[in-house]
Amino acid sequence: HMKKLIVGNWKMNGDLASNAALLQTLMPKITSATCTVAVCVAAPYLASVQALLSGSAMQWGAQDVSQHEVGAYTGEVSAAMLRDFSARYVIVGHSERRQYHGETDVHVALKAQRALAAGITPIVCVGETLAERELGQTEEIVKRQLAAVIHANGHCISEIVVAYEPVWAIGTGKTASPEQAQHVHAVLRAQLRAASAHADKVHILYGGSMNAANAQQLLAQADIDGGLVGGASLKTADFLSIIAAAS
Ligand code: 13P
Repeated sequence: HMKKLIVGNWKMNGDLASNAALLQTLMPKITSATCTVAVCVAAPYLASVQALLSGSAMQWGAQDVSQHEVGAYTGEVSAAMLRDFSARYVIVGHSERRQYHGETDVHVALKAQRALAAGITPIVCVGETLAERELGQTEEIVKRQLAAVIHANGHCISEIVVAYEPVWAIGTGKTASPEQAQHVHAVLRAQLRAASAHADKVHILYGGSMNAANAQQLLAQADIDGGLVGGASLKTADFLSIIAAAS
């Protein structure tokens, strides 16, 4: 089966010194033989993270990208700019962007398109809120979110990474059970298969309070190909445990 992918989403945390300390501890313990490991960092730190990680087995990426290519978009960061710092991945459509910054499925699809056009792998986040789950709408929501990206990206769809992140599990300490997560991952896999002959090589990551204690069981599920890790990616021992569980 395919090599698992563990991505740390640092969100808006860290500083130059603590980033360097964290990466210098992680780097010697990570080899490419085990699983693929990446960190998605705040844009101002891309240059220093690139300098630290170049030549190591770890990859790096960003947490957002503009839906526009270039021009008068004050405050935005383009996919070409991320590529200048050899970003391998960019998270698009994280629920925090959808919730606090008004991102819609249309924006997310455009962002994924910009990333792919620049040779950067978009990590497309989908997931339902607690209210949506309780109304029985989980499948409908995640399928709608992924459909927008499939529609905009056609045959390139096998080049993306998908992250299932139930909103109610993010930063709450409440993880989806392995069965709950696998169920949604299987739905997403089926949707990808209907769109691409190469759907089985798409990594579908789970995210939402993944930690050292629950990673192994989640990663043992048939359609869980890795993790998108928030809080636990900021703690060396916890992140290394998750990586070990994926190896
Ligand atoms: P936590 O792991 O802190 O719950 O965050 C998950 C997440 O949002 C990763 O993108």
